[in-house]
Amino acid sequence: MDISAKRSSEETISQFQQHVIPNYGRYPISLVRGEGSLVWDAEGNEYLDLFPGWGCNILGHCPPRVVSAVQEQASKLVHIPNTWYTEPQGDFAEALCTRGFGQAFFCNSGAEANEGAIKLAKKYGKKNKDGAHEIITALNSFHGRTMMNVAATGQPHYQELFTPIPTGFTHVEYNDIEAIKKATTKNTVAVMLEPVQGEGGVNVPSENYLSDVRAWCDQNDMLLILDEVQTGFGRLGSLFGYQQFNIEPDIMTLAKGLGGGVPIGAFLAKDSACAFEPGDHGSTFGGNALTTAAAHASCKYIIDNDIPSEAKIKGDHLQAGLLKLMDSISIITDVRGMGLLWAVEFADEITPKVIENANNLGLLMNPTRPNLIRLMPPLTVSINELDEALNRLESAIQMATK
Ligand code: PLP
Repeated sequence: MDISAKRSSEETISQFQQHVIPNYGRYPISLVRGEGSLVWDAEGNEYLDLFPGWGCNILGHCPPRVVSAVQEQASKLVHIPNTWYTEPQGDFAEALCTRGFGQAFFCNSGAEANEGAIKLAKKYGKKNKDGAHEIITALNSFHGRTMMNVAATGQPHYQELFTPIPTGFTHVEYNDIEAIKKATTKNTVAVMLEPVQGEGGVNVPSENYLSDVRAWCDQNDMLLILDEVQTGFGRLGSLFGYQQFNIEPDIMTLAKGLGGGVPIGAFLAKDSACAFEPGDHGSTFGGNALTTAAAHASCKYIIDNDIPSEAKIKGDHLQAGLLKLMDSISIITDVRGMGLLWAVEFADEITPKVIENANNLGLLMNPTRPNLIRLMPPLTVSINELDEALNRLESAIQMATK
């Protein structure tokens, strides 16, 4: 038993079976401690975590700067409502609002960030574009689990159980500028896209797609909203994903890696898109002193140490290793990604078996599709850890195909 554990994995699982709503598929492991790229279960088994916190733990588990920022801020002021001002929220907003972004709104998750961005675009349409309110999003996108984001997400299986869903979204093929042009009407106020689709299978657009979308939005007075919940904060090898494509969005949403592990989301807007006035939108916990102080510490570390460039170098190493695996294992049909966001696709639906084998070998990854796994290592992962992960992944796939 790990000294951090209060009870065995089996006991915790039984507690969950009785008292926690079973809306997640969970593996039979109770994790009790983490450090860097490693986590330990209640029995003391060690795992190399190549998908820490579903991509939130961008600096690994328990990064020292985030831990001390939490400790320091928790002893001073945890939360006050947004009817007053706090130094941590102001400092963090100022740090984020570079590169032409004028203002930030803080919330607690990616879905909330997108929800706010969509409301901002609709308000912009009311104020500036004769009430235009429709938003074009992409097929295979993923924007979150609230009803509005379920509607924005271009994957019918997230919608079918929850009809009727909010209207006002048109879904078009990703990476197809002509499809966006065809879907645009006088009621279209915005296009909302992920710079690289994550949950939809790690789909990297062609070089000019986003700049063509940017130009189309400019020509038609439409806002470009980029959902950088998954791609932001160094994941793709630059601080923000859009920098890889030489464009700037009007509104950008962030969460996951934004907080270094603490629950925080945000959207940043250019001054020209800032249509909100007092009372238009809000979040009780949004921008609280604790999470903004912790997230600011994480972001400062990422920027001061140019962690995105490191992610690019490590991403190239991971890509080379995955391509080598594809050469030697015929069931791998594709590896694709950018920076430290990668997918491995199989000819058959072997993901469940691969993940189970990998768990047993001490490697944690994400089962994105029955035939596709996703890797989002912490940006601080070492080259040795990546090599070890590649070895374990190779064994997990070989065991699944025997
Ligand atoms: N947007 C993207 C691109 C995501 O990948 C996710 C989550 O995976 C979300 C939004 C929703 O974020 P959250 O789960 O924090 O609400």
